[in-house]
Amino acid sequence: MLSMLRGIPASPGIVVGPVHLLRWEVPEVRHRLVDDADIDAEIARYQQALDKARARLRLLRARTETQAGATEAAIFDVQLSMLDDGELTNHTVALVRQNLGAEKAFDIVMSEWRQHFARSSSPMLREKVGDLTDVHIRVLSLLLELPDHDPVDVPPGSNTILVTHDLTPSLTMQLDRNCIAGIATEAGTATAHVAILARSLGLPAVVGLRSALSALRGGEVAILDGADGTLLIAPTDDEVAEARQRVADEAGRADVLRELAHSEAITRDAHRVVVRANVDIPEEAVLAADSGARGVGLMRTEFLVVGRATMPDEEEQYAAYTRVVKAFAGEAVIIRTFDVGGDKLPVGGYPHEANPFLGWRAIRMCLDESELFKVQLRALMRAAVHGDLRIMLPLVVTVDEVRETRQLMSECVEELAERRVPFRADVPLGVMVETPAAAVSCDTLVRDVDFFSIGSNDLVQYTLAVDRGNANLAPRFTPFHPAVLRLMQQVQRTGAAHGLDVCVCGEMASQPLAVFALLGLGIRQLSVAPRAVADVKRVIRGVRAEAAADAVQAALATSTAREAETLLRRRMRAELDR
Ligand code: PEP
Ligand code: MG
Repeated sequence: MLSMLRGIPASPGIVVGPVHLLRWEVPEVRHRLVDDADIDAEIARYQQALDKARARLRLLRARTETQAGATEAAIFDVQLSMLDDGELTNHTVALVRQNLGAEKAFDIVMSEWRQHFARSSSPMLREKVGDLTDVHIRVLSLLLELPDHDPVDVPPGSNTILVTHDLTPSLTMQLDRNCIAGIATEAGTATAHVAILARSLGLPAVVGLRSALSALRGGEVAILDGADGTLLIAPTDDEVAEARQRVADEAGRADVLRELAHSEAITRDAHRVVVRANVDIPEEAVLAADSGARGVGLMRTEFLVVGRATMPDEEEQYAAYTRVVKAFAGEAVIIRTFDVGGDKLPVGGYPHEANPFLGWRAIRMCLDESELFKVQLRALMRAAVHGDLRIMLPLVVTVDEVRETRQLMSECVEELAERRVPFRADVPLGVMVETPAAAVSCDTLVRDVDFFSIGSNDLVQYTLAVDRGNANLAPRFTPFHPAVLRLMQQVQRTGAAHGLDVCVCGEMASQPLAVFALLGLGIRQLSVAPRAVADVKRVIRGVRAEAAADAVQAALATSTAREAETLLRRRMRAELDR
C-alpha cells in the first residue's frame, strides 16, 4: 500500500487526524423480494429509515443555522419536505405491497422522480434534482445499513480529514468545521471551486489525489499537508511529532505574518499596489476585512445560490451585499453578478449540457433570464448606498452583453424610483476579462465599462483549452504560457491607455511568482485569497517593479511556460535576495 499520496495543493495548512471516507454516490441496489407475511415489517422498516433521515436533516439544519445562518440552513427544508411527500411514500409502499424490498422500491421511485425533474421544462423543478439525489443517497444508505456516510456523524473536535471523490459546492458548505479539519479529494484542481471554497473556509485541502479512496480504509490516522499537496497515511510516531511541530511553528509565525499582511503594499521602487480580497460567502467578509486587504476585488455571488431550491430574493441579496459593503467601510467592494453554470451548479440544476464550460452560464444565462438578473441588479444598486460598491460581469465576450446589462439597470432605476427605496443609479460597471475574445478585443469594451478585472482561472482554461477542474491536466494549466502572458499584457496596456483600472482576481494573483510577473506587466491591483495577503505583500515589498518589468519582457520572449517560469523564478529570487 502506498503510504504517501501526492495530489495538488489546494488550501494551505497541516492536519493530523483520522480519515473519514465519504462516498456520496447513489449505492447499487439489488433486486430483493419479500414474502407476503413480511410486507408490514418491510413498510415499517422504510418508515423508520425516513424518520432517521428526517432526524439527521434536522440536526444538519440546526447546526448550519448556528454556524452559517438562516439562509444557508434553508437548503435542508427542501429535502425535509421531500421526505414528507405523500406521493413518494404511497408509490414506495405500493411497490413493497407487490413484494419488492423497501430499498428497491424506494430506489425505483426516486430514480423516476430524478429523471422526471431533470427533464422538466421548469427551472424550479430542475434545480431540485441535486436535493433529490441527496435524499436518495441518504435514505438508501440507511435502508442498506451502509457504513454511515454522513459527515455529520464525525465527532466534534476529532480533527477529521474528509476523503471523498469530489465535493459539490453545496456539500462543501454543509461540512461541520467543528469536526472536519481538512479535505482530500480524488478529483479537482487548484482552481476548481471546491478548492476555492476550501480556501475561503480556511480548511486545509489537497485535491487531485487520484487513488485516495482505494488506498484508504477509513479511520486510520493521516497527515494532510495542504501546501505540499500530500496525504501521508499511517505515519510513524516521529512523523506525527514532526507534523505537530510544524503546526506549532506556523501558529508561532502568525504574528509576523499578521504584521506583514497589514503593512503597505509598495514596491522597493515606490510603486503602490492595491491588494483586495476575494470573498466567496458573506460570512467571510469580516475575516477578509481583517486580513490586511483593502476592499473586495471579487465577491462570487453564486455561492448564495448553490445548493438552494429557490433563488434568493431581492431582500436576502440586499442584506448579503450590504453586509460585505459595511464590513469594508469606505473601501471598494466589487461584486460579481451570478456566475452559475460549469462546475458551479448543483448536479442537474439546469439542463444537461455536453460542454458546460462553453455553455449557458454566467452573463449569458443572466441576460436570458432577465427578471432573475434584475432582482440581483436591484439588490446591488440598493446595497450601493452603503459604500463603494461596484458591479462586475462574468464571462463577457462582447460589448453587447454590457449594453444589455446597462439597459436592464436603467429599467431597475425606474422600478426602484417608483418604489421610493434608496439606491444608487450610477454604480460603476466593469467586466471580467476571462475569455480570449474579451482579452483580444478589449479595446471594443473600453467605452462601455468602468474597469477590467482579469479572471486568470478561466482565461488560462479557455486560452490553453485546458479544463481547470481536470486533475489529469493540472500540470498543463499554467498562467505562464506565453499566450496567456501576452493576452494579459494587451489588456493591461489597453486599460491603461484609456484610464481604466485593470485588476487581476484569479488564483494566480495569490501566488508569489505570478505576483512578480503581474507587477512586471504593469498590474497595480490584485484581488487575492484573504489568507494569501501576507505572502503577496512579501513579494510586492521585496522587489522593484522595474526589475519585474525587465523579467517579464524576457519571459514574454521565451517559447514555453516552463522557460518563462524558470526565468521568472530566478529573477524573483535575485530581487528578493538583494
Ligand atoms: C477566474 O476565472 O479567474 C475567476 C476569478 O472567476 P472564477 O474562478 O469564479 O471562475
Ligand atoms: Mg471565471
